[in-house]
Amino acid sequence: MEDKLMLMIPGPTPVPEQALLALAKAPIGHRSGDFSKVMADVTAKLKWLHQTTNDVLILTASGTGAMEAGIINFLSKGDRVLVGDNGKFGERWVEVCNAYGVNAEVIKAEWGKPLNPEDFRAKLEADANKEIKAVIITHSETSTGVLNDLVTINSYVKAHEKALIIVDAVTSLGANNIPIDELGLDVVGSGSQKGYMIPPGLGFVAVSPKAWEAYKTADLPKFYLDLGKARKDAAKNSTPFTTSVNMVMALQASLEIMQREGLENIFARHLRHRNATRAAIKALNLDLLAPDDAASHSITAVVPPEGLDAEKIRATIKKKFDIVMAGGQDHLNGKIFRIGHLGFVGDRDILTAIAALEASISSLGYSNFTSGAGVKAAIEVLNS
Ligand SMILES: *Cc1c(COP(=O)(O)O)cnc(C)c1O
Repeated sequence: MEDKLMLMIPGPTPVPEQALLALAKAPIGHRSGDFSKVMADVTAKLKWLHQTTNDVLILTASGTGAMEAGIINFLSKGDRVLVGDNGKFGERWVEVCNAYGVNAEVIKAEWGKPLNPEDFRAKLEADANKEIKAVIITHSETSTGVLNDLVTINSYVKAHEKALIIVDAVTSLGANNIPIDELGLDVVGSGSQKGYMIPPGLGFVAVSPKAWEAYKTADLPKFYLDLGKARKDAAKNSTPFTTSVNMVMALQASLEIMQREGLENIFARHLRHRNATRAAIKALNLDLLAPDDAASHSITAVVPPEGLDAEKIRATIKKKFDIVMAGGQDHLNGKIFRIGHLGFVGDRDILTAIAALEASISSLGYSNFTSGAGVKAAIEVLNS
């Protein structure tokens, strides 16, 4: 059926109508007084979402652009940094560091397992000369559905005192409680097509005063992603270059929706959807890649049993129900599929996705579950 596509992937996520209507408006000038008013309002709302009084800067870039900006503005060539790597996105920050000549010491965990905070503690405590300039981690590792223990790792960074903490919060901001000021997070990057409920195209970076101190001496090359320029113009409710004005207006609409729902309710909804999805997967006797105590609130990676191909399941759900789920990346391609429950997702979407999954695996000949068990398990969580 035409126009019935339903995205259950970890970005782009579904977009509410008010945001779509903002995108359909005739553009206004990015240097106009009207647009400055939008910028002022959006910036205040972004600080609300980030639970911070720090600068939150808007970049016309995807999430990777925001994270790259978060690295190159605060570090210098040869700086020693610790980078957590337990998936595709952790790997990406190592690649960004390598591209700019930052000396990344990689702290690894197996894909599907969380980073071990004690690995960070050991390195930070051993650093008597305070040479480690930053700790870079991915909070919700989208490739595996693992949620890394940001609070504990951050506590070790705080004990070190010198190092900055730089966080990829692309699939956790707007899903998890991340009180930036309370935790003292220095650099937090995110992207519009995830928890913000708008299409791809904008990146966001929250920057602490301590990070701005580091900016003064950071010598990595930068121009378009120079956050000092962005900060200067943000103070005048503007941007250094032409921003995506309609996307910023869509952002204003989505942030208004988020404010009406309230942060507590948004976080509770994502947690409920995670729990419902995981309960359903278990009831269907399929395996979960991430453990219960380190499971992302926005993305669930599922491991089908031997003989049931993950890509076949995805193709069947797409063909029969117009529902898009994500595949596995790199060596997990064909081994897992991932259900996104991030942003503009309601209980109805979860029930629909689980029912469609049941129907699809049944049609592929998988029968190791009681008919309706997934939906029943999800309902129990959603009703509790
Ligand atoms: C989506 C995502 C990004 C950003 O990817 P882009 O394609 O550049 O928007 C970064 N980190 C994580 C964890 C993500 O899920």
